[in-house]
Amino acid sequence: MYPVMLEVRGRSCLVVGGGGVALRKVDGLRAEGAEVTVVAPEPMPALAELAVAGQIRLERRPYRDGDVAGRRLVFAATGDREVNRRVFRDAEAAGIWANVADDPELCSFHLPARVQRGALQLAVASGGEAPFVTRRLRQLLERRFGAEWSEWIEAAGRFRAEVRRRKLPIAEEERRYDTFFAETVDPGRLTARVPTSGEEESYLAGASYGVELAAPAAAEDRHWTAAAPGPAAGLVSLVGAGPGDPGLLTLRGRQRCLEADAIVYDRLAATALPLDLPSRVELHGVGKQASRHPVPQEEINALLVRLARAGKCVVRLKGGDPFVFGRGGEEAEALVQAGVPFEVVPAVTAGIAAPAYAGIPVTHRREAVRVTIVTAHESIKSEGAQVRWDLLAADPHATIVGYMGVTSLSGVVEKLLAAGLDPATPAAMIERGTTSAQRVVRAAVSELPGAAGRAGLEPPALFVIGPTVAHAAELDWFQRRPLVGERILLTAPPGAWAAKLERAGAEPVPVALPVSAAARVVMDALPITGCLLRSPDDVDSLDEERDNPSWSSAARTWCLGADTAGRARARGWPAIHELPADADPAALVRAIAARVRRTPPPATPGGSGGRGAA
Ligand code: SAH
Repeated sequence: MYPVMLEVRGRSCLVVGGGGVALRKVDGLRAEGAEVTVVAPEPMPALAELAVAGQIRLERRPYRDGDVAGRRLVFAATGDREVNRRVFRDAEAAGIWANVADDPELCSFHLPARVQRGALQLAVASGGEAPFVTRRLRQLLERRFGAEWSEWIEAAGRFRAEVRRRKLPIAEEERRYDTFFAETVDPGRLTARVPTSGEEESYLAGASYGVELAAPAAAEDRHWTAAAPGPAAGLVSLVGAGPGDPGLLTLRGRQRCLEADAIVYDRLAATALPLDLPSRVELHGVGKQASRHPVPQEEINALLVRLARAGKCVVRLKGGDPFVFGRGGEEAEALVQAGVPFEVVPAVTAGIAAPAYAGIPVTHRREAVRVTIVTAHESIKSEGAQVRWDLLAADPHATIVGYMGVTSLSGVVEKLLAAGLDPATPAAMIERGTTSAQRVVRAAVSELPGAAGRAGLEPPALFVIGPTVAHAAELDWFQRRPLVGERILLTAPPGAWAAKLERAGAEPVPVALPVSAAARVVMDALPITGCLLRSPDDVDSLDEERDNPSWSSAARTWCLGADTAGRARARGWPAIHELPADADPAALVRAIAARVRRTPPPATPGGSGGRGAA
């Protein structure tokens, strides 16, 4: 067996057969730009659609002599051994390479199992000896080679072009490639990283970057400069992750995360970690987790300083905005004291975003011309109360947004009422606002502590008190979406499926394979209520993720096509719902909505809305 990579772009290839196997061959060929003709008397709908869209030529008839003429590659997958044999014989006679699915004797070439990371391809073949090992080896490699290799191969290609442009002697060229490889690939862990442009320049200049990196840089050089576009080593970015909905992370915040060497994240920030985070990024969770206590603030400060001093680009990812009640200010002070440069990437704070997702504008002309962002969990250090609830109670044209207020709500309401606040003032409590776990309870302020207690609302939650809360009855746009509360796992790339789910109110969790550490953090952050499986491969790849603690016991399995559903059944997936193989994202949304229909939120204040709260 002689391995080759074939350039099939623009070249004519024939696929005989109209079922799922043929479709996979067609997809593989089309992905590489081949001109594909399919011959099948009864092609499956997906093939017919490709033909209508002009993506393939489809001949709806049985195979006949002469069909192989002029082709570069021929595939047969008809399920009829006699037809397959004829196709193979004709191809051999015409000197054309041919492959009959699942019939090694009728093949003049085999397709290797492959792992693809951008332009980088790893192929596994067994020379027909033991085909069963190739799929298993491929899965192993899928797990070992992270998604970062596709960026890496792109960077390597750019680097090569740069080296070639310089027309160096061959030995000098090779030395630069050696440096690039040695500096960016960890041979033990099989991980790769994309070098910064500063590093790349030093490889091009023929320096061994590792030596330079070890020398301490002057403090002022460690900030971004025009010469070295890219976050400087030793910089800590205090990044706000937004209120929970991953779509609300800012562009700058996302960019900093993707470029970081290390991310130190809070529990509240976990849902916003980019799912496509390169696997080279170290992750340090410092928030409260199920069984663990939160890391004390002094230790977080020390960790940030330590990572920065090791020359790393550090992102401190915090829920909401980093300077709103998150002790971001204290962390910045600790960095200043340690002489570590830092920056702040502000973000959407929960106190504005969670009300927005509950249909509450925090200001409204004539009704509320002031917003007070206040913590109801007053600092224990100070002697006596810090918040002048009496002053807040005296201003009817304002909105009070109280952070960290679950346990103190009744005390706060008591103080406000005692200071003369109208007990009928509209109020709401919002738990995990903007996420798939959002729950909202609305009531007159005097009733709110009781209503929130009965609904069992827990931190993180905040309360909103003021006349504009009444608008929620009409503006409650988020809870009205058909799939609100659904958090659905699917394999990347996200594409139209994720977009459609998101617009219907669900939170799609599109994970790239193999599942990265960052993706596991995101998955764990909130319950997964369902999983979309688009192919039997999806079933295999996501199977072990079902052990994940975040997998809700009521999770449903949405399968495209009988093959996928069959595989899911064989592997014991729960609550399987089969959709047609060619179902589109809208059909999926309709199917999920029909299954998970929830009680609509009450239109009048005084009740509660949202998942599980009613
Ligand atoms: N820096 C954050 C606040 C951190 S303090 C920000 O700007 O949003 C933590 C408190 O924020 C929680 O106790 C809760 O009151 C509030 N909070 C954070 N995320 C929230 C969310 N998604 N929904 C409701 N309240 C939230």
